[in-house]
Amino acid sequence: MKHVSTFPQSDHDHDHCVVAILAHAEDVCRRKKVRLTPQRRQVLEIVAESHAAVGAYEIMDRLTTDGKRPAPITVYRALDFLITQGLVHRLASLNAFIACPRAGSRHGAQFLICKRCGNIGELNDHSVDRAIAGAASDVGFSVSAPVVEVAGLCMNCRHDAKPDAA
Ligand SMILES: [Zn+2]
Ligand SMILES: [Zn+2]
Ligand SMILES: [Zn+2]
Repeated sequence: MKHVSTFPQSDHDHDHCVVAILAHAEDVCRRKKVRLTPQRRQVLEIVAESHAAVGAYEIMDRLTTDGKRPAPITVYRALDFLITQGLVHRLASLNAFIACPRAGSRHGAQFLICKRCGNIGELNDHSVDRAIAGAASDVGFSVSAPVVEVAGLCMNCRHDAKPDAA
């Protein structure tokens, strides 16, 4: 399977990412025998449109046709489905969503959130998962999904940054 790189170059062909994410989603839904309805697929397409996170209201705006906004509940239901299938992640610190190109189930992840361009890279480093689970169990806490959101600057933005500002 082809993986979308964690932090793509700013001049990369993003259509490839979108095609890969949608193909992956179709594959996951087929395997799990769940339906990627046109509406769910459309919401995923909007979320996948960039490597930055998108908020629920932005999704509603983009789904608006002929000035008719979809009911918020339909968007939230579609997002719920996509999150349950592991195809979309909700970033708590941003209250926004990104598409997951990799897993077909709920999983722990480390999200690297670029403060400048807003792009988000997803790492799935199991040693981090284990470290969190270990430290939590030391205090009697059982971890269901170790998710970490880390703010910083991506490689592209670090290159753009003025040396004296670094
Ligand atoms: Zn891309
Ligand atoms: Zn993921
Ligand atoms: Zn950046």
